[in-house]
Amino acid sequence: MMRLFRFLKPFIWPVFFIVIFMFFQAMAELYLPTLMSDVVNNGMMKGNTGYILKYGSYMLLVAAGSSACSIVGSFLSARVAVGFGRDLRSKVFTRVESYSLHEFDKIGTASLITRTTNDITQIQTVLVMMLRFIIYAPIMCVGGIIMAVSKDKELTLILAVVVPLLLAVIGTLASIVVPLFKALQKKLDRVNLVLRENLTGIRVIRAFNRLDIERKRFVEANKDLTDTSIRVNKIMAAMQPLLMVFMNITSVAIIWFAGLRINANKMELGDMMAFLQYAMQIMFAFIMVSVMYVMVPRAQASAMRINEVLDMQPEITDPAGAQSVGAKRGVVEFEDVTFSYPGAEQPAISHVTFEAKPGEVTAIIGGTGSGKSTLISLIPRFYDVDSGRILVDGVDVRELAQKELRQKIGFVPQTAVLFTGTIAENIRYGKKDATDEEVRHAAQVAQASEFINEMKNGYDSEISQGGTNVSGGQKQRLSIARALVRKPEIYIFDDSFSALDFKTDARLRAALRKETSESTVIIVAQRVSTVMDADRIIVLDEGKVVGMGSHRQLLSNCEVYREIVSSQLSEEEIA
Ligand code: ADP
Ligand code: MG
Repeated sequence: MMRLFRFLKPFIWPVFFIVIFMFFQAMAELYLPTLMSDVVNNGMMKGNTGYILKYGSYMLLVAAGSSACSIVGSFLSARVAVGFGRDLRSKVFTRVESYSLHEFDKIGTASLITRTTNDITQIQTVLVMMLRFIIYAPIMCVGGIIMAVSKDKELTLILAVVVPLLLAVIGTLASIVVPLFKALQKKLDRVNLVLRENLTGIRVIRAFNRLDIERKRFVEANKDLTDTSIRVNKIMAAMQPLLMVFMNITSVAIIWFAGLRINANKMELGDMMAFLQYAMQIMFAFIMVSVMYVMVPRAQASAMRINEVLDMQPEITDPAGAQSVGAKRGVVEFEDVTFSYPGAEQPAISHVTFEAKPGEVTAIIGGTGSGKSTLISLIPRFYDVDSGRILVDGVDVRELAQKELRQKIGFVPQTAVLFTGTIAENIRYGKKDATDEEVRHAAQVAQASEFINEMKNGYDSEISQGGTNVSGGQKQRLSIARALVRKPEIYIFDDSFSALDFKTDARLRAALRKETSESTVIIVAQRVSTVMDADRIIVLDEGKVVGMGSHRQLLSNCEVYREIVSSQLSEEEIA
C-alpha cells in the first residue's frame, strides 16, 4: 500500500491543502465547546444577554468556518483519490501492454481485469478516508484529551476507563471482521471467474447441456460470497448500536459525576457541557481510526495484487542499443533453435535449423501439438528462444527493436481475432493509412470481397464484439486481408486456411502467390494439398524437424510425411 503512494506525487499540492483544511476544521471543532462553556457560564448563568449574543455569533462564525474547511477538504480528497485511481489504472494498463505472453500466462486474463478495475476502486475508496482522517482523527484525539483535562482533571479519569474499554470492543470486532474482508475478495474473484467462463463458453455449455451444472456452480460461488458478506454486515450492523450504547452510558456517567462536582461547587455547568462534547469527540476519533484499521487490510490485499502486476518485469524487452536491419530483405534464419514453455518437461521446439528466403514459400506441416504454432511465434518474438538464434535480415531478433521487427511481419494467427468496428477498419488495422483501393485489393486477394460486397453496408458493415457475426472462414479471410494490406517482407500464416473449403483455399493460394512473389512466405498447414506446391516443406514431429525438402523429395525420404500424405490423398493424387 505504502509503495503505491509514490503515485500520489503529482497531487502533492492538493494533499498539502487537504492537510491544512483538515487541521483548521479540527481546531475549530475543538474550540467550539470551549466557546459554548463560556456562553453558558458567563452569559446564561448570569443573565447577560449581550454576552450571549456576542459569543453566540462568534460560535456561529467558527462553526461556519469549520463546515467550509470540511467541504473543501472532502472535495479535494475525492478529486485526489479519483485522479490517483486514474493514474494507477493507466500505469497498470501500460505495464500489462508491455508484457510478453509469458506474463499473461502467469497472472491470467480474468485476474488482470479484476485487478485493473475492482482492486483499484478499493484503494481509491480507502484513500478518500485516509486523506480525510489521517490528520483530523489524531488532532481530535490528542486535542480532545488536552481540552478535556483543561476543563476538569478529575473527570478525565472516566475517559481513562472508558477509552480502553472502547478499544477492546472495537479490537475484538475487527479481529473477526478483517479476515472475513480478505476472504470476501477471494470469493469475488471466484464469482468473476465462473461468470467469465460462462459468458465466453456459452455455446459449449448449451451444446453439452451443462446449463444446470454451470448454474449450480455459479449459485454456489454466489452464495458463498453472499454468506460471507452477510456475516460481515451483521457484525458491522451490531457495531453501530453497540457503540451508541457505549457512548450513551459514558454520557450518563459523565453527567452523574459532573453533577456531584457541580453540587460541591467544584465545577461549572458550562464546563460539564463542554467536557461532554470533548468526550464524544475523543471517542469518535478512536472509532474513525478503528474503521480505518478495518478498511486498510482490505485495501492492502488489493495493493499487493496491483503491485504484483506493476513489479512483474516483461521478459521480452528492447535491447539497449537496438540494431538496424542488414541489407537483406525478409530473410528468416533459424539456427539450432530450442525452446521450452516454462514448466514443461520437454522442449516444444528442439534443434530447428532452416532458412526462408524472399520469393519462396516455406511450408510447415505436422500433427497437432507438434510445435508448429510455437515455432512461428518465435519469429515476431512473442517468446524468446532458450538456445540457438533466429535471424531476420541477418540480425538476431533479440537485438532488434520489437517495433521494427514486427513492422516487417504480416502475421495471421491460428485463431482469427477481429476487433469491434467496421470491416474496413479491421483491415486497416494492418496499415492505418491504407487507401480504400489498398483495402479493397487486400480483400480481393484474400477472397473476401465477395462476401463483403454481399453484406448490407459492404466495407462499412460493423463487426460485432469477438467477430460473432461472421463465420470462421470469413474471419480467417479478413485476418489474412489485414496482413496483406501491410505489404510486409515476411508473411506468416498459422493454419489460416483450415476453415476454408478446398476451392477457396486453392483460389486464395493462387492469388497469394502473385501478391507475395517478392516476400518470404511461411505457411503452417495441416492439409497436404495446401503445402504440396511450396518451395520447401518442413515436417515437424514433437518439436523436431524430421524432414525438409520438396513434396517429391519428402515422399521418397520422409516416413512421417508419407504417413500424413497417405492419410489425406488418394493414390493418383500422390503421383
Ligand atoms: P501445433 O501448433 O503444432 O498444434 P503448438 O505449437 O500449439 O502445436 O504446441 C506445441 C506444444 O506446446 C504442445 O504440446 C502444447 O501443449 C504446448 N504449448 C502450446 N502453447 C503453450 C503455452 N502457452 N504454455 C505451455 N505449453 C504450451
Ligand atoms: Mg497450432
